[in-house]
Parts: sequence; structure tokens; C-alpha cells
Amino acid sequence: MYISVMGTGYVGLVTGACFAEFGLHVTCMDIDANRIARLEKGDVPFYEPGISELVMKGLKENRLHFTTDIAKAVEDALVIFIAVGTPTRPDGSADLSYVEEVGRGIAQAMTSYKVIVTKSTVPVGTGEKLREVIRTHQTQPIRFDVVSNPEFLREGSAIEDFLRPNRVIIGADSAEAVAIMRDLYRPLYLIETPFVVTDIATSEMIKYASNAFLATKVSFINEMANLCERVNADVQVVAKAMGLDHRIGSKFLHAGPGFGGSCFPKDVSALIQTGEKAGCDMEIARATSRVNERQRLLMVDKIRTAMGGLTGKTVALLGLSFKPNTNDLRDAPAIAIAARLLAEGCAVRVYDPVAMEEGTKLLRAATPCADAYDAAQGADALVLMTEWNLFRNLDLSKVKSALRHPLFIDLRNVYEPERMAALGFHYISIGRLPRTPLTAT
Ligand code: NAD
Repeated sequence: MYISVMGTGYVGLVTGACFAEFGLHVTCMDIDANRIARLEKGDVPFYEPGISELVMKGLKENRLHFTTDIAKAVEDALVIFIAVGTPTRPDGSADLSYVEEVGRGIAQAMTSYKVIVTKSTVPVGTGEKLREVIRTHQTQPIRFDVVSNPEFLREGSAIEDFLRPNRVIIGADSAEAVAIMRDLYRPLYLIETPFVVTDIATSEMIKYASNAFLATKVSFINEMANLCERVNADVQVVAKAMGLDHRIGSKFLHAGPGFGGSCFPKDVSALIQTGEKAGCDMEIARATSRVNERQRLLMVDKIRTAMGGLTGKTVALLGLSFKPNTNDLRDAPAIAIAARLLAEGCAVRVYDPVAMEEGTKLLRAATPCADAYDAAQGADALVLMTEWNLFRNLDLSKVKSALRHPLFIDLRNVYEPERMAALGFHYISIGRLPRTPLTAT
């Protein structure tokens, strides 16, 4: 089967490369000519474990092609995935202009039946809107179906998530389109991946409900962490014990500087907007978003208090990406927090294993460093922002001797307070105060 994917970002490229891996012929299209030129040579413009190898393999086996020409991408494809961005508009709603632009392009180029699939995260009603856009821009009336197939991959483990997803959602109103989608995903069928086949609106809603729920879990545990600090309880133990309850589950219960990235903040915001349009106040989503914004400010307060003021001080900041194993800096808490520190007159020495190039463009006043120890050199405090494995296993005595003051602010609760105290650090983390060890009676 021939398919195409519009947009070669994190989702589009992973989708294209993985379907090529399933044995399909895939054409990936993007309007960014520079990106396509790089991809044609197997040069992936972002960091994602395993993607370069998969792209190289697809190119070598002649199953993966890249183009900037939408007509070429539409021509032979039976299924066309739309995986372009749906960023936030100033009013918080999802900007669907890229999706609609692709819709118009497909409409004008199509000469045979197509299944047109939204893989981008799009609000309820977009499938219908897309159908209308295509219908009104067709040069001749050709049959097509619209399908919603939201993507749940996580940056950092995107390929594994795509090849072994928890579930595949197919929203459609045509039996023919469902059959084609099932055929496409046959390799996942064989490994008994659950499929949820439903209508388009429900499918679109599933993605927002899932992301908003996960974001809510994060805001919930962050709020618990803040309370734990006030009442001298330990949020790590609270979260662990909560997570042991199978009804709750342990995932997304890690206290930290708040959620970020290209999905959670934007999707929560779009859900609030969808609710507003539908006359349904999304109170929980609003609180999730507010708590998340506040958490970033609280982290700055925490750093300021620990350092006894920020002006004229220097912080070593470890990690810029919103989570490990990606160089995605979109809405990363580290960027917002570092910008605030700089604005308050604090010098910031940064290091991230893969996001330095983009990160230092966003934080021009920060000093880029060669590694964690270089960042710590002469700093008044170290702030651990992103829990890269590399930062989980720091040579702590080296860190301590590099720092001007042994102040270690761990915004991911990676290290043990007792151990850090024993090593002579003034150690501050989230939702847990230094504890006195239990003594036998
Ligand atoms: P991205 O910004 O990395 O990539 C989008 C790509 O689309 C860019 O390369 C851009 O040049 C291209 N593009 C824009 N307009 C185009 C057009 N008219 N024709 C062809 N290409 C065009 O975005 P992403 O992170 O891959 O996200 C894409 C969608 O998937 C979003 O809706 C997002 O919410 C959703 N999603 C993202 C993730 C994730 O982890 N990144 C996970 C699940 C779902």
C-alpha cells in the first residue's frame, strides 16, 4: 500500500518511518524545503532515539521518500496522514490553519479515492470541518473519507510507543475507511494491540481527555508536594503509596517544576476553549493549567529563597528540554524559569546533553557550558531541571568542589536528601523536607 504523511515533525516523521518499517511505501511531505533536503540525506533535524536509523533504513530500502510537492505526495497514496502542527492561538484555542492548508492542497491534487486521516491533535469538530474544506476545494467531485487517528507517542520513546502502543484509536463514519485503517495497522493487530473504533468526534475527544487527565495528575501531585513541604510530609512516599493503588497507578505522579512540552499545555488550553464554545466550563482543566503556571513561579521562589536573593548570583542549570531524551524546548519549564532568573539579575550557566543549540538561542544571556561540572564551576547553586540519566549519576564530590557554595536544588527529586546532607550539600528538593532517620526503640 502507498501512503503519505503531511508534516515531518516529531509525529509525522515517526509515523512515516514506522509505517515504512511495516513494509508500506511512504512519501513524507513538508513545506520546509531545508528540512526535506536534510531528510533526503537521512539527516534528521531533531533528536529522537532510534529515528535516524529507521529513516536511513527506509531510504535504503526505497520505501521512504521525501518531497515538498503535495501533488506528488497525494498522487499514489490511498491513505494520507495529516501530522502538521496545531499550535495555540492567542485565545488558547488550537490553530487549525496548517491542517486546513493541507486539506486544500489534498483537495486540489486528488484524482482518486483517498482516506484522509488527522494524526495531529485536533479539537472536536475538526474532522467535519476538514471534510468541508476538501469538498469545497476539489477541482472535481472525487470520493474520500475523513478519519481521526490521534497519536499518543511520547517524545524520547516515540518509536517504541508507535510500534507498541497501548491502543490505536480509529474514528470514522465509513466501513471502507475503517477496513483500510485496520489493514494499515495489521502488524499491531498481530501483537494484540487493542483497537477502539468509534465516530470521529469521540476519537478527537479521546486525545484531549487523555492528555488533560495526565496533565491533571501532574498538577495534582505538584499541589500535594507544595502542601507536603508545609506540613513536613514526604511527597515521594505519598506518590509511591498512591501509585501502588491500581486504580491510581504510579505514572505521572512525580512532583517537579510542572508539565511542559508541545502537547500538555496546548491541549489543556484547547480543551478549555472547546468547553467554552460548547457552553461547558472545564473547571478541572482550568485548575490544572493554573496550578502548572504557578508551579513555575514557585520554583523561582524556591531558588531565590534558598540562595538568599538572586541579584548578582550565579546558578548552574542542568537540563533545558522539558523531559529527558528529547531536544524539544517548546514550553519547557527550564526555559521559563531560566528566563526569570536572568531577568532578576542572576547569571545562568547551562548545560543540556542535546538541547544546547536551540536552548542558547532562547536564552541568549545564559552561558553555555561543556558539561555539568563546567556549569557548576564557581556557581552559587546547582539547579537540576531535567532528569537526564547523565544527571542521575553525577560525580557529587566533583560537583561540590566546582560549586562556590554547596547548594543543590533538585527540582526532580532525583537524589536522596540524607545522602546529600551526608555529602555536605545544602540540599533542597520538592515536597520533602530533610528528615531525621528513624531510630530503633
Ligand atoms: P512539529 O512542529 O514538530 O512538526 C510539524 C511539521 O509540519 C513541521 O515540520 C512543519 O514544517 C510542517 N508543516 C506545517 N505546515 C505544513 C503544510 N502546510 N504542509 C506540510 N507540512 C507542513 O509538530 P509535532 O510535534 O510533530 O506535532 C504535530 C501534531 O501532532 C500536533 O497536532 C501535536 O499536538 C500532535 N502530537 C504531538 C506529539 C509530540 O509528542 N510531539 C504527540 C502526539 C500528538
